[in-house]
Amino acid sequence: MRRAGQVVREVLELVRSRVKPGATTLDLEKAAETRLAELGVKAAFKGYHGFPCVLCASVNSEVVHGIPSPKRVLKEGDIVSLDFGAVVDGYYGDAAITVPVGEIGPDAARLLAVTERSLHAGIAAVRPGATLGDVGAAVQGVVEAEGFSVVREFVGHGIGVHMHEDPQVPNFGQAGRGMKLRTGMVIAIEPMVNAGKPDVQVLGDGWTAVAKDGSMSAHFEHTVAVTATGARVLTE
Ligand code: MG
Repeated sequence: MRRAGQVVREVLELVRSRVKPGATTLDLEKAAETRLAELGVKAAFKGYHGFPCVLCASVNSEVVHGIPSPKRVLKEGDIVSLDFGAVVDGYYGDAAITVPVGEIGPDAARLLAVTERSLHAGIAAVRPGATLGDVGAAVQGVVEAEGFSVVREFVGHGIGVHMHEDPQVPNFGQAGRGMKLRTGMVIAIEPMVNAGKPDVQVLGDGWTAVAKDGSMSAHFEHTVAVTATGARVLTE
């Protein structure tokens, strides 16, 4: 799973380097697809319940599952969430980053910083004997202290020989509640954070989830193993 995670990181960093005003989200897809082909690695998302691409690219108020398109041109001040997964020898890795396009405004910059910080708070709560509620509460605490909202309809997940395995890993919850983490478990922690209200809706393409109130949304994700000494991040 570490090897899958390393591929995911390499491809995400490559795609990040291609984000600039004037690029399309399909340009980002093509960069990811080309590098995967060079590495001889299988994409996790393409074909998953019919998803047409290797990369999810979600711009501004799009929360997750945006479909790369030649019509979607990035412009200065946008933010774009990039979610990517790969399979190596049958094992999955899954991670996401949200990237500024050129110079972004202070509100967008704060949303990105807080969302990434909330992911790290969730990771810091991971250890044997901690609960999923501890992880969710850690994420939620960081987000809500800044006046932002945690999306409820989409959650993190167990990951291993499938991309999505039990248990669900919500980005909200109560400390001490829920399943206890044990050494050897691997979970994807992935806060999706809206600058406004938490509600989302799925567009007519059947995939793209957007913030209902049109506010900006950010997404950061890591695949994380539970070890005797705490979290080991497999996608860094
Ligand atoms: Mg995921």
